[in-house]
Amino acid sequence: MKTIALAGNPNSGKTTLFNALTRLRQKTGNYPGVTVEKKVGICQLPGGGLTEVIDIPGTYSLSVRSPDEKIARDVLLGLVPGTARPDVVVCVVDAGNLERNLYLVSQIQDLGMPVIIALNMMDELPAKNVSLDVTLLSTLLQVPVVPMVALREEGVGALKSLLQDGFAYQYKRQWILPAAIEEQLNELIRLLKHETGHHDEFIFFKAVTLISQATLEANEALLREMGIVLSPASLEELKKTQERLGLLGPHVRSAVIEARYHWIKSVCVQTVKRLSDSGGQDLTQRIDRVVTHKAWGWLVFVGLMALMFYTIFAIATVPMDWINAAFEWAGRWVSGHMPQGFLRDLIVHGILAGVGGVIIFLPQILILFFFIGLLQDTGYMARAAFLMDRLMNKVGLHGKSFIPLLSSFACAIPGIMATRTIESPKDRLVTMLVAPLMSCSARLPVYTLMIGVLIPAANVWTKALIMLSMYFLGIAGAFTMALIFKKTILKGRAPVFIMELPPYRFPSWKTILIQMLERSALFVKRAGTIILALSIVLWALMTFPYDPHKGGTEALKSSYAGQMGTALEPAIKPLGFDWRIGIGLIGSFAAREVFVSTMNIVFNLSQDTPAENLRAAFARASWPDGKPLFTPLVCLVLMVFYVFALQCLSTVGIMWREAGGAWAAFALFYLTGLAYVIALLVYQAGRLLGF
Ligand code: GDP
Ligand code: MG
Repeated sequence: MKTIALAGNPNSGKTTLFNALTRLRQKTGNYPGVTVEKKVGICQLPGGGLTEVIDIPGTYSLSVRSPDEKIARDVLLGLVPGTARPDVVVCVVDAGNLERNLYLVSQIQDLGMPVIIALNMMDELPAKNVSLDVTLLSTLLQVPVVPMVALREEGVGALKSLLQDGFAYQYKRQWILPAAIEEQLNELIRLLKHETGHHDEFIFFKAVTLISQATLEANEALLREMGIVLSPASLEELKKTQERLGLLGPHVRSAVIEARYHWIKSVCVQTVKRLSDSGGQDLTQRIDRVVTHKAWGWLVFVGLMALMFYTIFAIATVPMDWINAAFEWAGRWVSGHMPQGFLRDLIVHGILAGVGGVIIFLPQILILFFFIGLLQDTGYMARAAFLMDRLMNKVGLHGKSFIPLLSSFACAIPGIMATRTIESPKDRLVTMLVAPLMSCSARLPVYTLMIGVLIPAANVWTKALIMLSMYFLGIAGAFTMALIFKKTILKGRAPVFIMELPPYRFPSWKTILIQMLERSALFVKRAGTIILALSIVLWALMTFPYDPHKGGTEALKSSYAGQMGTALEPAIKPLGFDWRIGIGLIGSFAAREVFVSTMNIVFNLSQDTPAENLRAAFARASWPDGKPLFTPLVCLVLMVFYVFALQCLSTVGIMWREAGGAWAAFALFYLTGLAYVIALLVYQAGRLLGF
């Protein structure tokens, strides 16, 4: 099967075209070793044949400053294990931004493999008052150009036919370098040819990449990445070439960029015609005047965020109640139809309580991803990042860290994955290290439960306010820690933030829906695997060793989990926690949401009336000396602990894959330490104040 790669700038409509080509025959995963998303699908051609389509990450160039750009380049070069080297590259180009988009096209043409241009967004040209000579563009670029409106699937058929029938491809480089540099380029080409024995068809691309590097070390690193090992003699040659280039002056490094742009400009001048001078502003500019305004912009931003959180907390409760009812019904059904014993106990208290306690958050996750998809697809997210930039700058980060942090309110995993767009490795790391401080949806059940116990009678606004302050505590913690990291272990100057504000577009519901389903599938998978396994393990730890002579609290205390909780008690007593809360903490180190289901099991097992409401059980729970366990202060301390602690195996896992084991361990250590110290301070201060 042939493989087609879709390349293009961000927001050029790559994903839209990918969806149109592959329908739902697609798979999302990750490239090995990095969390750059890999999307592969199957496209049926008009003749019935199948071809593989890869949606490579959107980039402006192949200059390899971010992981996305590196993956894009490596996929095209066929260097990524498990990913077929593309036979054809379809460059998705935004017709309304020809000049900027052609830069990547020009770099891809250097690879020498067949290229087709999918000239997308043709429908937006009239509003921009420009026309484009498609035939001339195709002639000048020496590639087939298919005009397209991917959103309405116009031109997709023509593209498929072209892929089916094949096309003659001949490309001759059009941009030219000053003669002295050209000479050195030829020198490099000779050198690489000599090293690789003429077999490498990407030699020209590699030589051009080498010439743009500032130092010999950078050259060597690049060669290693591209799988070329130079002999000592060639290395010496390379060094000489670099020295000669250095003598040509400081502008050599940008000579290739300039040559490219010079040529691109001439193509644009010939093909793009302004129809009339519209004079006025287009809609995007008018909206942007409000949305990026110093005052109005924030109003819109806060309004949208408020709407989002309101929907997540208020509207989602309806389907959440249904899910809860369904799991309760299932539990009752099993209890009524199965004989009493370990198996029934495992299913009802272990599996159904554990998995149900997590699945219940699906509606909130769906809503959050719906909003994120909507904000991204319409183009608003870029404005939000622009607004946040100044705020983020105060802690040494930039607006690009905003989207990962926002995603982390749903779950730190997509948040950490979203850091891949951050070019500076240090900033990526800082963002990753603080992302778990954003209160994710797994904390919700803990907050809800604790607020319920803390102030059972309070009205909904007071409860919402406490909830909100937990969120703000997390945000404040994240910003403080980011500032500390940027000043200490991950020192670096605040980066300049260059970001394109794409025009506002009507969102594609299909794209949003596909993304929502994809993310939620991941979440459900997690519930069905990790959480399921954990629930079973925890249930077993709390049930065994089984002693028929013991019951209730006594049995729990002598169980493995009870022994662990008891061993932990001296360490957590200064926080006001006893061994039973300790069991909950141990369980929730794998996943926070397990706390609630564990507490359910803990207090059902230890009370004589198993069906009793958890809150009532909490209210009755006491220390051996009779003092109440869940005082308002303890509830608060527990919440504060959950704000800071990194209690999530999956997050540690993804950090491990992303930043390495040392940083994952560091994150676990510092966040848990922080949680302990702050919880300790809150509890002891509360005690001093007489609570
Ligand atoms: P990607 O970043 O390259 O993957 O771009 P997307 O496929 O996510 O598209 C970016 C935005 O452009 C989305 O809002 C799409 O709905 C929209 N879009 C895609 N193709 C077209 C098109 O042909 N015309 C118009 N007007 N909008 C489009
Ligand atoms: Mg995309």
